[in-house]
Amino acid sequence: MTGTDAVSIASLGDDGEAFRALARNWLKSHVVGEFAELRGRGGPGDEDVGFDVRVEWERLLGAAGWIGLGWPTEHGGQAATLAQQIIWAEEYTRAEAPARVNHMGENLLAPTLIEYGTPEQCARFLPGIRRGEVRWCQGYSEPNAGSDLANVQTKAVLDGDSWVVNGQKVWTSLAHVSHWCFVVARTEPGSQRHRGLTFLLVPMDQPGVEVRPIEQITGGGEFNETFFTDARTERSLTVGAPGEGWKVAMGLLGFERGISTLAQQVGFERELRTTIDLARDHGCNADPVVRQRLVGAYTGLQLMRWNALRSMSGKGVPGPEASISKLFWGTWHRDLGELMIDVIGPYGLIAEAFPYELTLEQKLFLFTRSDTIYGGSNEIQRNVLGERVLGLPKEPS
Ligand SMILES: Cc1cc2nc3c(=O)[nH]c(=O)nc-3n(C[C@H](O)[C@H](O)[C@H](O)COP(=O)(O)OP(=O)(O)OC[C@H]3O[C@@H](n4cnc5c(N)ncnc54)[C@H](O)[C@@H]3O)c2cc1C
Repeated sequence: MTGTDAVSIASLGDDGEAFRALARNWLKSHVVGEFAELRGRGGPGDEDVGFDVRVEWERLLGAAGWIGLGWPTEHGGQAATLAQQIIWAEEYTRAEAPARVNHMGENLLAPTLIEYGTPEQCARFLPGIRRGEVRWCQGYSEPNAGSDLANVQTKAVLDGDSWVVNGQKVWTSLAHVSHWCFVVARTEPGSQRHRGLTFLLVPMDQPGVEVRPIEQITGGGEFNETFFTDARTERSLTVGAPGEGWKVAMGLLGFERGISTLAQQVGFERELRTTIDLARDHGCNADPVVRQRLVGAYTGLQLMRWNALRSMSGKGVPGPEASISKLFWGTWHRDLGELMIDVIGPYGLIAEAFPYELTLEQKLFLFTRSDTIYGGSNEIQRNVLGERVLGLPKEPS
């Protein structure tokens, strides 16, 4: 099979094993050369590694039809079943294929456009994502609107057929390598909280958008400050009705907190296996406390998987119960990062190279601290569950 042959899964029907063989063979014949050199690389805290090669890899995946696998066929997807999407994620991880570069486009914006966008918006933006050519970032958080997202102060006003956007976003992951940003902006002057917000699609390549990198504790800079100064976008690039952006923004967060974590979890399994190997290598796999923590991690991984499957098997936009999944995986992954460094012992304190080159394990340990923050912090997830699932009294404001 050449790099540009598109796979077709329609003829496979429900035959999971045939689909697995297709996915496995494709990955085996394509994770070669420069892609094989990036086996297992580019994940959390390691995003800067081999970026250009991973962009090429994304295009190859797109040409072969592996991007948007589960999207409906009318949007150019392959309408893969839930089981097939899981198999693809499993095989992808087994092959240690390079980490993807457009999670936010494929897994967050695309399902949001399919749910809330116009046919024209879908026709304009989904193909670029599907081909692996157009990358997206998420412009939600601001200096005073993180957990309290309804406090968004970035403004957009109409000027003819354009929105003019002014304000500052922060912690914008991969903004420096993105072509477009989905931005939550206040479009009704004087509006409060979640009213009067609008969900806009804004091109990054224009004079009114400035991206300033923020160096992270891992040594890399996957997120940024993003400044909009009279930045412009077309009026037609409003997703949902003007003033009703909160609903769209929350719908997207539901995809972020629930469905899109499945592939990530297969990666978690690999990290757990690495942790077990490290425990063996460092002679602590017989330590009763380490064994207990390893088994606890394994059990948690299975629970997490079943919970994600449950969220995915529901139809439409995930509800507040998606917070269970985010709370659970964020905490689990942070704990795994700690366990990984603990089994390495004192060697975990020694960097790879001067002045600040960290080992993959150290990067993972440090980056996983953020898993309980982004996509809504643990405290916020507990608030959502308490108030919207359990019906407990609202937190005093
Ligand atoms: C690695 C990483 C990548 C990110 N990528 C993006 C991105 O691409 N796009 C984007 O828009 N944002 C992104 N973020 C931002 C992320 O969504 C915010 O950091 C998060 O929502 C928390 O907001 P904050 O940082 O402003 O903290 P704050 O909201 O100031 O919270 C500070 C602390 O107070 C707690 N707290 C706040 N309010 C309450 C409450 N009501 N009840 C109980 N506790 C509370 C929080 O849990 C937290 O511990 C990213 C963050 C990280 C760490």
